Amino acid sequence: MAAIYTKEMPNFAIYKEQIITPEDIYKFNIDKSSEFLCYNCDKKVHFRQQRNADNNYTEHFYHPNTVKDTHTGCDSLTLDKVKDTDTWHNMFSRFIEDDKREIIRRIENKKHIVDAYDAFNEMGVEFQNSPISVADVQSRDATTHLNWIFNCSAQYVRRVKVGGIAICEIPHDNWEKAVQAVKNRILLWTGHNDWILLENRDSYRIQVDGKLRNVWIGKPVTFADVFELLCLTNILTEAGIEHFNGITTGLAEVEVVYGRCKKSMFLLDDLHREYVNHHEFKSGDILAVKSVAGSGKTTTLLKLAKIHSKKKILYLAFNKALITDIEVKIKEQGIRNLYPSTFDKVLYQAYCSKSGEENTEVINLTAMTIQNIIPWLRGKPFKLRDSICRLFTKFCGNPKISEISDFAYRETGKENAMLSQLWKKVVYGEFITFDAMRKLSLIGHWFSGFMDTKYDMIMIDETQDFDMMMLRMLLDDTTIPKIFVGDTKQAIYQWRGCINGFEYLPAKSLVIEFYSTFRVGDPACEIIRTQFEDCWMISKSKNHTTLNEGIPAGAKYTYLFRTWRALLTAARGFNKVYIHGYEKKITSIRKLHQILTEFNGNLEEEEFEDDLPKFLKSLSVDDLENLISSIDENLVSAGDAMVKFYTIHSYKGLEDDNVRIADDIDIEEDENLYYVALTRGMKNIVENWV
Ligand SMILES: [Zn+2]
Repeated sequence: MAAIYTKEMPNFAIYKEQIITPEDIYKFNIDKSSEFLCYNCDKKVHFRQQRNADNNYTEHFYHPNTVKDTHTGCDSLTLDKVKDTDTWHNMFSRFIEDDKREIIRRIENKKHIVDAYDAFNEMGVEFQNSPISVADVQSRDATTHLNWIFNCSAQYVRRVKVGGIAICEIPHDNWEKAVQAVKNRILLWTGHNDWILLENRDSYRIQVDGKLRNVWIGKPVTFADVFELLCLTNILTEAGIEHFNGITTGLAEVEVVYGRCKKSMFLLDDLHREYVNHHEFKSGDILAVKSVAGSGKTTTLLKLAKIHSKKKILYLAFNKALITDIEVKIKEQGIRNLYPSTFDKVLYQAYCSKSGEENTEVINLTAMTIQNIIPWLRGKPFKLRDSICRLFTKFCGNPKISEISDFAYRETGKENAMLSQLWKKVVYGEFITFDAMRKLSLIGHWFSGFMDTKYDMIMIDETQDFDMMMLRMLLDDTTIPKIFVGDTKQAIYQWRGCINGFEYLPAKSLVIEFYSTFRVGDPACEIIRTQFEDCWMISKSKNHTTLNEGIPAGAKYTYLFRTWRALLTAARGFNKVYIHGYEKKITSIRKLHQILTEFNGNLEEEEFEDDLPKFLKSLSVDDLENLISSIDENLVSAGDAMVKFYTIHSYKGLEDDNVRIADDIDIEEDENLYYVALTRGMKNIVENWV
């Protein structure tokens, strides 16, 4: 029998609180004289079968005793106006037991259709594919104990390896609010065998695959989990179970996502730290950890050394202070498998092992010492000797050119016999400098076979201020797993030829971010984050840290300077002051002053971290000595000092309750230095210019 449903009259009705169509009457073998109700007005309707002129049947429900056209509100109501009838919805509906689908639920005089309802257990499931208001969610939840399935199969959905989470880009604007109103469980349908359990209804801003997205963050679950979580035992048909179990395609996976809002940073910080602690380091693995100031990266590395107690781990850093620091901690914590070393020390070991000579002397090549290596240069002009030294150092620091004649040609337009002779002496082992060691090691691949047999793993600290040649050697000539740590925002040695190592790591590297600082508390942390671009930092510190409030009267503090000029000038006006590295600096300042004034030497000013040469040039010997003696009068030991003076460069990695920043810093030009300075304070951070 071919049945045609009229458009003008209701083609559905409520039968025992379930929505039915004329088709269902036959399907469920319903008595045609049963009580049917109108969905629109709740009044009784009748079922009618009528043969048309063209010999087809028309079947519909109708209101008895109605004058034609008086019930347009009821007559014009079609099934797809009261319930979702899209393909996705129909697919789910098809897998629901006949008597459990499209059940009418009422609250006061409002009613709605629950997509699936198990009356025995009083549990419903709602399939959500279209926008829905918070009020609608609330009224449905108020009528029925409902779990919800949201269709996210058209969205950007990914499993995330780090943290074992799943992310889903938020589809409808109003779903963002709607999910927060849902009382019971929410599962996201992804179209794959991974579903997402959305326990946390917040929306997060994250970066994934280089793009910023607003997402939900949930837990990937299997269909078996969904079956349990949604109590589907009585609801789903055998065919439905088979269908969902039969889906074999999994969600696409990304390695890691990054927090780009406060909430996501809080959530991901824990997950990222957890991941690092449980990471299995395999041959060739490169893990990079970008960690903000005060995020406890040294603690993390020490912890890792303990976790991997069977591995011999080399800890590498440029900075001797860092090495000393970690040596103390290793001793305190009884760690036996971590070997701290500077790059130069490792190079030296490799050199000795290659040359078979212990205790080789490493010289410092200067305009003075070069005369001992090439006697012909004795008594020749300073400028000549100096320029050869410079060229030699430059060649050693060039990771690309391995032939010295090529290099000389490129630099000066001609061959340089003196330079070639110098390098020959290095190659024949007649003398060695640390720079030359680097170059030789890079060309000769000394590290291959050396590092891999000596250690099981390498930790590299301060990756943001790295050396290109060392990086090449580590990446090309070693295969043991490596972990690079550092903070991109604290790269402050680019003027000295350093590179940001994070930018040169191979694509296969896994980059993890640590967001939380345990040093700088709020509100200062919040302010600092907004002051810098790409500053992904949150505070987990108990400190109450404020900016611009002034150092409390009588409190001791640390005073940070960008330049030695400003530091020395200011030191004259303070009593009980301690200056970090003062004696060593004054010795070198006197030497420098002599070179600049007496010999009228030309220094390449970009080799200095600040404007010191320019400042010294402006001083006579008397000026300089007066300055030094007036500072000397004020100096006390660090312990007795009311104020401790440091350059920002030398205060990296350190902290104090009260920190004051001098106004000799160009906060736009020296953004990273400014960031370093700002992130040193635990209680009061004072900017002189504010
Ligand atoms: Zn009606």
